[in-house]
Amino acid sequence: MTDSPRPTVAIVVPVFNEEPVLPELFARLEALFAAPAECAWRAVFVDDGSRDRSAELLRAQGARDSRFELVELSRNFGFQSALAAGLAHAGAADAVVTMDADLQDPPEVVPALVAAWRSGAEVVRAVRRSRKETGVRRVGFDVFHALFDRLTDIPIESNAGTFGLLGRPALEAFARLPERNRFFPGLRAWIGFTTAEVAYDRQERAAGKPKQTFRRLVRYAVDGFFSFSYLPLRVLTYTGIAVSGLGFLLGLYFIAKRLLGIETATTGFTTLVSLVTFLGGIQLIGIGVLGEYLGRIYDEVKQRPIYLVRPPRR
Ligand code: UDP
Ligand code: MG
Repeated sequence: MTDSPRPTVAIVVPVFNEEPVLPELFARLEALFAAPAECAWRAVFVDDGSRDRSAELLRAQGARDSRFELVELSRNFGFQSALAAGLAHAGAADAVVTMDADLQDPPEVVPALVAAWRSGAEVVRAVRRSRKETGVRRVGFDVFHALFDRLTDIPIESNAGTFGLLGRPALEAFARLPERNRFFPGLRAWIGFTTAEVAYDRQERAAGKPKQTFRRLVRYAVDGFFSFSYLPLRVLTYTGIAVSGLGFLLGLYFIAKRLLGIETATTGFTTLVSLVTFLGGIQLIGIGVLGEYLGRIYDEVKQRPIYLVRPPRR
């Protein structure tokens, strides 16, 4: 399709139990596709093992309109894996727009992303001007972005999520990233390329509940953090240096006291108990941090595929 005069833009949408929002999503994508544009459109839906009628609706939509394609995963692999599946299947497109199914990322912003790409950007990030989430999730997002920006080696734009566009070279770069722990905004920052930003207002979910549970978001944040930072290891090293330095000075002090013949009281039970538990705790935290990295290394060396696709159903 790449040799057609009009470039192809594929919209990749991971879907997990989104039955209530799908009809509106189809309608709004159809409106987008119907508007005059300089490109040919495709929509690549990835059904991430939905347990409701999402897959059925997606299949029916594909039968009505061949621009709507469907990739079905063999089970629920999670958002990041579903996204990777979509990017792989959109392979032949000249550009790919990554978008959530729940209409928090409005399809009406897509022409602006495409325009930024056509005027030369290889990666376009949609940046939230505002956010509708409130409460714990909101605080969580803000804290995560503040920490991530400060503590990792690669700065990610703090108001950018998944929504955005990848041009051909960026798409090919993504296909070369083999890791299992995938944190999309971080990887997108890592690949580089000329990047443009388009501001938009993040909407409320059109219907249904968030599919990423809070626990999953926390895991996602921890993942993003450990795959982009060695800081936890460095903090351990520094703590170790500080604690052993302190121990050495304390030793000198007590030796000097003894040599000078100053009596030391033999009490100090409280001090001892506090020191032993404190240092024991630090060591356990250290093992935990090592474990976080070790678990990730284990995930990587197993070399399991990131997702599995189920053959198309008739
Ligand atoms: N999603 C998915 N697999 C999952 C969980 C979510 O493909 O295991 C999809 C979901 O259908 C939606 C997108 O990922 O299109 C974002 O999910 P959600 O809106 O629940 O997350 P949030 O808005 O909180 O980031
Ligand atoms: Mg959402």
